[in-house]
Amino acid sequence: KPMEGRITDIGPHKYDEYFPPVIKKNFGKWLYHEILEPGVLMHVAEGGDKVYTVRVGGTRTMSITHIREICDIADKYCGGYLRWTTRNNIEFMVEDEATMKALRDDLNSRKFDGGSFKFPVGGTGAGISNMVHTQGWVHCHTPATDASGPVKCVMDAIFDDFKDMRLPAPVRIALACCINMCGAVHCSDIGLVGIHRKPPMIDHEWADQLCEIPLAVAACPTAAVRPTKVEHNGQKVNSIAIKEDRCMYCGNCYTMCPALPIADHEGDGIAIMVGGKVSNRISMPKFSKVVVGYIPNEPPRWPSLTKTVKHIVEVYAANANKYERLGDWAERIGWESFFKLTGLKFTHHLIDDFRDPAYYTWRQSTQFKF
Ligand code: SF4
Ligand code: SF4
Repeated sequence: KPMEGRITDIGPHKYDEYFPPVIKKNFGKWLYHEILEPGVLMHVAEGGDKVYTVRVGGTRTMSITHIREICDIADKYCGGYLRWTTRNNIEFMVEDEATMKALRDDLNSRKFDGGSFKFPVGGTGAGISNMVHTQGWVHCHTPATDASGPVKCVMDAIFDDFKDMRLPAPVRIALACCINMCGAVHCSDIGLVGIHRKPPMIDHEWADQLCEIPLAVAACPTAAVRPTKVEHNGQKVNSIAIKEDRCMYCGNCYTMCPALPIADHEGDGIAIMVGGKVSNRISMPKFSKVVVGYIPNEPPRWPSLTKTVKHIVEVYAANANKYERLGDWAERIGWESFFKLTGLKFTHHLIDDFRDPAYYTWRQSTQFKF
């Protein structure tokens, strides 16, 4: 006999339990939507119901007091409902225009002590939405750069484009703090990716004690890791050897074996990739390509990174046609012209023919002239 009330699934509840009533009522029946102004959307359903959404930028790391304030706003205007988007934006939904205007003005009026917006309204249409990013130095084991730190600084530099829609098309920016890329940089208009540039160090004293050596061997995607015996403190011990010219500095082996640390103050930094997108509007989705091979980590304000990203955005804004995504523009004018216009140097470091040329290499065509 089935047990009454038994919980068989401890994962998240089904998403539609949390739909606001108007969303539930019109599920699958939305006709169209418009962006009324930066940060404000209006969705219209077949039966005439409307939903006004006010989108504000959020952060990946939030204090409890900040979350409480967000919930208070949702209680006051939205019947207690709100949603977080995949880009860490927060969306407040209401059903009439007058409430939307009161909500928007309320959000715009809430400021931190220094005067900056607590809930900046924006992130829609042909502007820069909030950045997708990964865990960074605090929360993951293989980062080559931080996540929240550089993202905050880059967003500060391009904040006007979060609140505006002056660009030719949307610009999606993402940051992943290692090349395992749990942050979608491979298909973003601008992708910032943490890169290690040195193979893991090998701690022979601990390798056999801390690690299942066969797991470390199996974890390496390029077969650079092999078991070996080494002399240590006058004794032969089981350990690991790494064939350095096969290593692509991904850190997978460190995931399996803490005796193979890869973080390195001098070797680690950030590469910039450009031109990817997920959308199939006008042209096919595409992968991003590496356009800056290495920028050093420069906490706390990451000046070289922010300057370069801002510069790429400005050159794109000044030269692309309306509706052209960054990669579409670069392909139309030719990537050689992209490098000339931006002043970025094309060097051999940008050529990655390491394993899978379908991904990032420039050598897909004899038309590429560098
Ligand atoms: Fe960890 Fe890499 Fe993801 Fe950063 S990108 S959180 S280092 S797996
Ligand atoms: Fe292999 Fe990656 Fe470890 Fe290098 S860092 S040895 S490529 S698993």
